[in-house]
Amino acid sequence: MSSAPDSDFYSLELLLDPAGQQLVHRVRAFMEKEVEPVINGYWTREEFPHDLIPAIGKLGVAGLAYSGYGCGGLGCLLDGMVAMEVARVDPSIGTFLGVHSGLAMGSIYLCGSAEQKQRWLPAMARMEKIGAFGLTEPEVGSGAARGLTTTARRDGDEWVIDGQKKWIGNATFADYVIIWARDVADNQVKGFVVEQGTPGFSTTKMRDKIALRVVQNATITLDGARVPEANRLQQANSFRDTAAVLRLTRAGVAWQAVGCARGAYEHALAYAKQRQQFGRPIAGFQLVQDQLVKMLANVTASACLCVRLSQLQDAGLADDEHSALAKAFCTVRMRETVGLARELLGGNGILLEYHVGRFVADAEAIYSYEGTREINTLIVGRAITGTGAFV
Ligand SMILES: Cc1cc2nc3c(=O)[nH]c(=O)nc-3n(C[C@H](O)[C@H](O)[C@H](O)COP(=O)(O)OP(=O)(O)OC[C@H]3O[C@@H](n4cnc5c(N)ncnc54)[C@H](O)[C@@H]3O)c2cc1C
Repeated sequence: MSSAPDSDFYSLELLLDPAGQQLVHRVRAFMEKEVEPVINGYWTREEFPHDLIPAIGKLGVAGLAYSGYGCGGLGCLLDGMVAMEVARVDPSIGTFLGVHSGLAMGSIYLCGSAEQKQRWLPAMARMEKIGAFGLTEPEVGSGAARGLTTTARRDGDEWVIDGQKKWIGNATFADYVIIWARDVADNQVKGFVVEQGTPGFSTTKMRDKIALRVVQNATITLDGARVPEANRLQQANSFRDTAAVLRLTRAGVAWQAVGCARGAYEHALAYAKQRQQFGRPIAGFQLVQDQLVKMLANVTASACLCVRLSQLQDAGLADDEHSALAKAFCTVRMRETVGLARELLGGNGILLEYHVGRFVADAEAIYSYEGTREINTLIVGRAITGTGAFV
């Protein structure tokens, strides 16, 4: 019998084999024991808990879905459920892992040559080396497919990269930053693994975010940064290849949204059972039960959608629109759910020590990154109508 909390209302965890369930439980225990007690302090100080990286590495969850190169080879369903478990306690750590394992390792896994995968992925899977993913620019967000201004110019056995990136998670300390830049020769977007310390590559930490404050987002300046041809991802020939990475990681973000909503719901449920007003627990009021059930329905429907998406991914049947629909739907439901949880806690809903306030704030970032609701809606709209409506 699964020991999943009741908020896994349709027992989705039972879809995993016993080893998968055990891994999920290990991740849950780690997050609850090691992360939850300390995370609000890091959130307040805008700091990242670097000391936790070796222990997260030992969980063996980085690159879980990928086969070979020191990765788990355990598929997208388990990977998604792990992403949900992490975000369920803290969306910032979930984002850190999503950037490292999803965006950075995923770029190398999908777009690197066999030699490049062997060179970078094993140490990243052990989390001895950390990755970041630089696509967005100060003036180019949603329109990245057509509008990237960062350039790459081939010069013998090297590339010279110039431009700026914004919002790049983990970039202040990552060992490898995947930079997407337009090749001036053929105008196509290509991917480069830029190593920390490369002359001409510099980062500035973004401060005063009101969401995901633990995540170290940075602006990056590339000023004639020289990268060897050996660091150009050999299978990344156009933005179509970048989109393949996003297809993979958007599914992970949908799972994160489920985790963020589920965490808020669980805190709200526990609170409703112990908080007394009018001489009895507020959980006994009809209007409060209505809120709780709305939250549970959101979490359950979103999780079911994600499960099926992961199954399609594992069967090689998932397309851009499948990930986009899940990302858009689950993040909308997440936003509603964390709002209801906050409401249910009354004033305590805005105090960090009750955790729900952190989920409310962090949900805002998850809602917008990896494609806003509008952009993911347009991806689905194009697929079902046959007409692109982006411009
Ligand atoms: C916390 C955080 C972490 C991030 N981490 C990373 C990272 O690690 N790496 C990375 O590369 N990027 C990262 N991003 C960037 C993120 O992917 C972008 O913020 C996102 O793609 C939206 O781009 P934008 O913020 O520039 O908004 P804009 O593109 O300027 O959009 C503004 C508004 O216009 C709407 N809009 C735009 N185009 C259309 C259209 N055609 N039709 C209708 N509406 C439209 C959008 O939906 C949005 O509501 C991160 C962002 C955040 C907030």
